[in-house]
Amino acid sequence: MYTLPDLPYDYAALEPAMSGHIMELHHDKHHAAYVKGANDTVEQLARAREDGQLGGLMGLEKTLAFHLSGHVLHTVFWTNLSPDGGDKPVGELAELIDRDFGSFDAFKSQLTAATATTQGSGWGVLAWEPLGQRLIVSQVYDHQGNVGIGSAPLLVFDSWEHAYYLQYKNVKPDYIAKLWDLINWDDVSARLSAARVA
Ligand code: MN
Repeated sequence: MYTLPDLPYDYAALEPAMSGHIMELHHDKHHAAYVKGANDTVEQLARAREDGQLGGLMGLEKTLAFHLSGHVLHTVFWTNLSPDGGDKPVGELAELIDRDFGSFDAFKSQLTAATATTQGSGWGVLAWEPLGQRLIVSQVYDHQGNVGIGSAPLLVFDSWEHAYYLQYKNVKPDYIAKLWDLINWDDVSARLSAARVA
């Protein structure tokens, strides 16, 4: 079964960019709900199989995709951030960003725009796309829509209102600008290395 990972820092560790109040609600309530939702749906699917009652399967599959993807994305999000984050990537990650986006600034503009222009709830995502062996930026709807299947999320920006509204109100661009100062590029690089050998 799925479990809620602890934050790798205190709730208030990312202040003032991200308030401790938001982090506590976001982790303890929102992320926890996706973990519970994934586990509940896995159980309901098992029961449906045992009973031979697959009439509600379509709804259960959709619910599983939503909660499981929410769990995956938030798990990546917490470790993507660090009180010591910011600056720019180095090494292989920096080279691939230059190769696949032209420059770090061009990549930054694309991921910022993908996050900022999400309609409703969603995410801006830097992912490794294994078939083309390249980096892509995706604009994910909710947690699971508009995804290039098989691509591995490396760096994810939560664009749901619950991620920023208590602090930034409707000024989402300010929240996104602050996220760039929190990025733990070592974590993003480690995710790239793992995805490339997978
Ligand atoms: Mn969230």
